[in-house]
Amino acid sequence: MAKDYLCPICKGQLRVKNSILLSAKSKHNEKGLIFLNSEIGDYSITTHPDFEIKDGEEYTFFCPICHATLNREKNPQLVKINMKEGNEDFDVYFSSLAGEKCTYKISDKSIEQIGPDAIRYKQYFDVPEEDKKYL
Ligand SMILES: [Zn+2]
Repeated sequence: MAKDYLCPICKGQLRVKNSILLSAKSKHNEKGLIFLNSEIGDYSITTHPDFEIKDGEEYTFFCPICHATLNREKNPQLVKINMKEGNEDFDVYFSSLAGEKCTYKISDKSIEQIGPDAIRYKQYFDVPEEDKKYL
C-alpha cells in the first residue's frame, strides 16, 4: 500500500517517488537536502556529494516546504513526521544521529519499533497512553 509522509506542521507532502525529502543541518552549519528511503527499515540516504552525512553526527531536520524544525523540542535526538497508510494515521520517529538505525511507527493502537538500534530510545515510547502527547 502506498504510504504518504507528511510534515506534522504544514501537512505538506514530503514523499517524492520512493524517497522522503527533508532539509538538514549539522552542528557545524553544513546544510543540504536529504532523501531518506520511504521504506521503513531501509536506512539508505541520498544527498548531493557536497553535503556529506557523517555517521555519529547529530542533524537538525527541517520541512522543505514550511521550514519547521522536525526534531522534537524535548528529545532533539528524535525527529517526527506523519505518515498515512490507507485510512490509518501514524507518527513516525527516527534518530537525528546519522548512522543510528531506529524507527518508531506509532498510532493510537500500536507502537512498532524497527531497526537494530530501536532499543536506544525505547523508553520514550513505553509510556502510558495519556502521556504520549508529551513525546
Ligand atoms: Zn512543513
